[in-house]
Amino acid sequence: MADRYLRFTGTAPGRFLTRRLGLPEPAALIRWSAERPALDGGLRHLTAGRSGLDLAPVLARTGIAPAGADRAAAVVLDASGVRDVEGLAEVHAALHPVVRSVTPSGRVVVLGAPLDPADHHQAAAQQALEGFTRSLGKEIGQGRTVNLVRLTDASAAETTLRFLLSPKSAYVSGQMIEVGAGEEPEVPVDRDRPLSGRTALVTGAARGIGEAVAETLARDGARVVVLDVPGAEQDARRVADRLGGTALLLDITAADAGARIAEALPDGLDLLIHNAGITRDRRLVNMPAERWIPVLEVNLASVLRTTDALLKAGALRPGGRIVATASIAGLAGNTGQTNYGASKAGIVGLVRSLAPRALAEHGVTVNAVAPGFIETKMTAAVPLFIREAGRRMNSLAQGGLPVDVAETTAWLAHPGSGAVNGQVVRVCGQSLLGA
Ligand code: NAD
Repeated sequence: MADRYLRFTGTAPGRFLTRRLGLPEPAALIRWSAERPALDGGLRHLTAGRSGLDLAPVLARTGIAPAGADRAAAVVLDASGVRDVEGLAEVHAALHPVVRSVTPSGRVVVLGAPLDPADHHQAAAQQALEGFTRSLGKEIGQGRTVNLVRLTDASAAETTLRFLLSPKSAYVSGQMIEVGAGEEPEVPVDRDRPLSGRTALVTGAARGIGEAVAETLARDGARVVVLDVPGAEQDARRVADRLGGTALLLDITAADAGARIAEALPDGLDLLIHNAGITRDRRLVNMPAERWIPVLEVNLASVLRTTDALLKAGALRPGGRIVATASIAGLAGNTGQTNYGASKAGIVGLVRSLAPRALAEHGVTVNAVAPGFIETKMTAAVPLFIREAGRRMNSLAQGGLPVDVAETTAWLAHPGSGAVNGQVVRVCGQSLLGA
């Protein structure tokens, strides 16, 4: 499972050899820890076009000090006011002189506006920011990330900016995230434990990404329920005990899974994290129904069924969050994964359709994370050559860790993230696969 190449390229002989041979040079990413909770360095706030956003107070609340004359760890370019090609020249003029000086593992966040259907010049310029962001993400290197946020209200985007401008978003790059106007975002009582008082159910949490999600939500104060199949009882109990939560042993494909969750949580729940997933790879020509059906059942049908049952039962409290797990294989397609790709694309359809209604009718947001190559038992089982290709074929030239998906989930789960709805956020180091 360990990425030996990444370790090797961190040594002096490794660096020498990879440079001589022109091989990928992955940077050691800086991730969140209690000892190192913020980026190492200051923030530079730039503007292109005439912005109507009240951004300065929101950036001040991130706690990142303004950068001095030299290097910045975070650059925020407010390009929301760019309405034409001339405005794009200001984007170039603002970032060209500073991009070289962004620190390793630093962040560039470009802010844009929703595309105006009545003004094709504005729409062209704003769409251009997406191509710009994705291209800069591919070339910037040194573990630095570049993301685009489309917004109309800076305070509704505060949790999103905090996430993107922190070590928690180490493996999120080349993404476009839309933040709605929303109501005044909810400010948690305890900023260090924003999920305290909330109950989270994480499916498939006995190991891998689900375990990391449960751990991260518990770190942020949530009471966690670790759901997994009865066969994973030992691991599920171990995780639950470690996190002070409870285990719920249940096959999520059971017809009455929703009812049993509601029964186990009579006071309801706040965070429903659909993480359980399986693969049964084969090319379609060799794929019998026995390999097709279970993948669609676990990855999609059970997500639809339990979501419907819990919403109908009113088990998800207002302010709740549903986060489902897609995959870049569902966005880009993957050889040998027609079943898996179909199931994960189905999650995207579910999220986009349900999100506005769930918010209007239940006060619950619905989003998805779409992991790329994440170092888990699932990917350790992939044949060596394909595994190595999966690891390197992204802008950060390495696989992500379960915690990267977990941190993304925690941002979506945050009480202040109510204006982030219907989004599919890739956690893929800007994989070459997919849009
Ligand atoms: P994993 O195989 O390590 O863990 C999956 C967990 O889900 C296991 O504990 C398993 O027992 C549980 N599970 C499976 N079927 C279940 C069922 N019917 N009911 C309850 N629990 C069940 O997988 P992972 O790598 O941690 O992946 C987690 C999620 O992320 C999956 O949805 C997967 O498709 C998705 N994903 C993973 C990657 C990756 O690179 N690892 C990439 C893209 C998407």
